[in-house]
Amino acid sequence: MTEKSIIVIGAGLAGLSAGCYAQMNGYRCHTFEHHSKPGGVAAAWKREGYLIDGGIHFLIGHRPGQPIFELYRELGIQTDDFPTLITYSRFIDEASGVSLDITGDLERLMHDLKAIAPADAGLIDDLVAGACAMQGSTILFEAGTGKPPELMNPLDLLRQFWSMRRTFKYFTGKYAKPLANYALAAHSQLLRQTLENLFLPEVPVWFVFMLMALLADGQIGLLPTGCRGFVMPIEERYKALGGTMTYEATVKEIIVEDDRAVGVSLIDGSTHRADVVISAADGHSTIFKMLGGRYVTKKTRERYCNWKLIRPVLMVSFGVAREFPDDPHMSFIILKDAITVGNQEIVGFSLRIFNYSTGFAPRGKTVVQVMLETEWDFWNDLQEDRQRYEAEKQRVAKKS
Ligand SMILES: Cc1cc2nc3c(=O)[nH]c(=O)nc-3n(C[C@H](O)[C@H](O)[C@H](O)COP(=O)(O)OP(=O)(O)OC[C@H]3O[C@@H](n4cnc5c(N)ncnc54)[C@H](O)[C@@H]3O)c2cc1C
Repeated sequence: MTEKSIIVIGAGLAGLSAGCYAQMNGYRCHTFEHHSKPGGVAAAWKREGYLIDGGIHFLIGHRPGQPIFELYRELGIQTDDFPTLITYSRFIDEASGVSLDITGDLERLMHDLKAIAPADAGLIDDLVAGACAMQGSTILFEAGTGKPPELMNPLDLLRQFWSMRRTFKYFTGKYAKPLANYALAAHSQLLRQTLENLFLPEVPVWFVFMLMALLADGQIGLLPTGCRGFVMPIEERYKALGGTMTYEATVKEIIVEDDRAVGVSLIDGSTHRADVVISAADGHSTIFKMLGGRYVTKKTRERYCNWKLIRPVLMVSFGVAREFPDDPHMSFIILKDAITVGNQEIVGFSLRIFNYSTGFAPRGKTVVQVMLETEWDFWNDLQEDRQRYEAEKQRVAKKS
């Protein structure tokens, strides 16, 4: 059989992984990446002796028991010594001084939540019951590591339904709706704010149940060397498997013949052909730019036009001259007095403390990162005037 070829567009986590599996399955793969290095949004950078991690911090399924653990192995990532996350986050109400740890000990969590919000006992029982029901479940990753939905036959579907029987109700009704709606049922303001900020308020409730279950199962690991330590092994694996990588190569167009993708043309004018083209760049660039909007259904177009984008996040990282051995890696602070950033009032923010590995800061020091929601237009307009942009950055850093 003659070797078939694949072109992958983008060397983010998806593109690198696609490239590895292409090589493992006997294809000859060439990846084109716009940037000078791999990783995409899983990005980290060095600054004055500190490692600033701007991307992924934790990983699900870093220990045996989840199907994705095998996938990490196949991609060359050793996750066994990633520290297991014990406390997901600490919620601190600055005004009252009350603080609450979201831990994988679901009994303790139920007790602590009821102590701060006794009137919400029913909601708290429901939350913990959802998390308990999802414990030991592998559903989240079966979708990504098992048979693709389009290849499933009726027997596969039946099997899937059977494996979901214990948790099926949690993927329907109010549990399939946004977390923010679920949180509205809380009488306690602190509980409401805690629930909303357990993850993004838009995620379905079942996702948070799943996250808490994985935490309880000890299946969430922190990345001890930041996301670079996660990305580089995959790139190495890809190259070791014989894959070709070209950086600083931006794909302008996907070449289509008889409604089949047969290659790419780059902005430098070169063209490259392959039997298969996989775009692991973002959907919008792929559909509307590289394919010129020619292969888009009404439903997809409507999604890109009408769906709200995830709210932008402003990240401020500090190198702090002390250690924080007893603090959880993440806290959410509900501020006593709101601060203004741009045109927006900020009532709370996430605080990340990179205290779980020595890889982020020189001895005796720690990287601390503040993340708050902000508006895209404000910062985008401001960067036209570099001086004002830098001044606003400094002001926000001081406030944080
Ligand atoms: C701040 C932040 C924190 C996160 N935290 C976590 C976490 O803790 N745990 C977790 O599991 N996930 C986390 N995520 C999500 C995770 O990082 C992303 O889902 C994942 O990295 C996306 O990878 P990707 O390859 O799909 O896309 P991308 O990373 O966007 O990669 C796309 C690549 O395509 C390239 N590209 C685009 N257009 C072209 C072109 N025309 N030609 C050539 N190349 C092109 C880009 O340069 C880029 O390298 C986080 C994300 C962010 C932003």
